[in-house]
Amino acid sequence: MSKRHIQGLTVECVQGDIANQPDVDAVANAANAQLMPGGGVAGALHKAAGPGLAEECRPLAPINPGHAVITGAHNLPNSHVIHCLGPVHGRDEPSEELLSSCYRRALELAEEKGLTSVAFPSISTGAFGFPMERAARIAVRTVVEQAPHLSSVKLVRFVLFSKKDQSVFAHALEERAD
Ligand code: ADP
Repeated sequence: MSKRHIQGLTVECVQGDIANQPDVDAVANAANAQLMPGGGVAGALHKAAGPGLAEECRPLAPINPGHAVITGAHNLPNSHVIHCLGPVHGRDEPSEELLSSCYRRALELAEEKGLTSVAFPSISTGAFGFPMERAARIAVRTVVEQAPHLSSVKLVRFVLFSKKDQSVFAHALEERAD
């Protein structure tokens, strides 16, 4: 686990499962445009949340790359899920801006709800094919840049599935926070 304190915001990178983060208010979903269950993060979150999550999502879909919507968390151990649609690598442009927008909008939604903690997976780096090192730099940079604008959110946790991905994010955080 790697941790930094930046202007009142704690930013962590941990190895783990985004569907098992009981100590945060909201978890972010690396969603598809239809906000439906699928593979990867969306599959894990919908499975743990139960069918009520897809039902709540249906009228909110489709969403565009770079956008985010917030719902309840159903059977997940959180209060909310923030569904972010990342860019498909090589298709949705400008990809870096769209990926950054996911994290920024998710944090704006968390602020609107007065949430204090949000866990993010690495958006776009699975089925959507975004290179991990670049995605990590963009994710960390966006969260650090938002730190001065956050009042209710005090903790942002990046949850990476593999040890290798966790160390890529930890490295990006070290570079950014120095
Ligand atoms: P996208 O479609 O946005 O690329 P994916 O869900 O396919 O989203 O993958 C995003 C990232 O999340 C990948 O790096 C993948 O290894 C990781 N991942 C997959 N399942 C989980 C999980 N349960 N918890 C945390 N990270 C996960």
